[in-house]
Amino acid sequence: MLVVQCWDDGVTTDMRLIELLYKYNAKATFNLCPGNMNDERIPAHWAEQGYNGWSHKGFFGGQIGKKELFSVYKDFQVASHCWKHENAGVSSDDEFIKAAVDARKYLEDVFGRECRGFAWPCSRNTPETCDLLRENGFAYARLVGETDNVMGYTDPMLLTPSCHFQDRQFYARYEAAKKTGVFYFWGHTYEMMDSPGMWAQLEQKLAYISNDPDAVWADVIDLFK
Ligand SMILES: [Zn+2]
Repeated sequence: MLVVQCWDDGVTTDMRLIELLYKYNAKATFNLCPGNMNDERIPAHWAEQGYNGWSHKGFFGGQIGKKELFSVYKDFQVASHCWKHENAGVSSDDEFIKAAVDARKYLEDVFGRECRGFAWPCSRNTPETCDLLRENGFAYARLVGETDNVMGYTDPMLLTPSCHFQDRQFYARYEAAKKTGVFYFWGHTYEMMDSPGMWAQLEQKLAYISNDPDAVWADVIDLFK
C-alpha cells in the first residue's frame, strides 16, 4: 500500500514534524501560503491572556520564514495552498486563481521544481474554481474529509484523504485502506501544540507505518503520475 501524508499552512511546528519524518524515513507534502510568510520565522507561541481572535486552543503554530523556506522543506514536496489562504467562492474567481498560481510559481522558483499539487484553503471549492485549477495545470486539489477509497474520486480536483491524523479510527482506516492500495492522512502540525502526548501519538503512527512491510511511503503527486 502507498501511504501519503500532507500538512497545511507552513507553520513553525512543521520543523518538529520534519525531524520525525527524517527519523522514520517518511515522505510528506506541505501545503504553503508564501504570502503569509515574513522574511524571518514567526515562532510558535501561546495567545496572550484576554486574546479572543482565532487560535488553536490558545496556541499559534507560528510561520516559517521566507529565508529558511528552502532549507526547511527541501527534502519534501511542497504545494500551493493559495498566496494568503484565499478561499474559493469567497474571493472572486479571478483573485482565487491568481492566488493559487502565484503561490505555485513562488514555490517553483524557490525549490526549482514543478509543484502541481493544491490543497483547498478551508476546503472551500466551487465547480468554476475546479475548472480553473485544472486549466492552470494543477494535478490534484485536496479537500478535508474522510473516504475509504482515496483513488475512487470522480474528479482529482476533489481529492478526499482517508482521514485526519488524529482520527479516532486512524489505525482501522489504515488497515481497511490496504484493500484499495492507498492511505492518505492530513493535518496541521499546530494541532499538536506543544503537547508531548499528541506528538508521541503521531510518532507512534509514523513508526507503525514505517515498520509495516505492506506500506511504502509516497508523495501525493505520485498518485497522479
Ligand atoms: Zn489551511
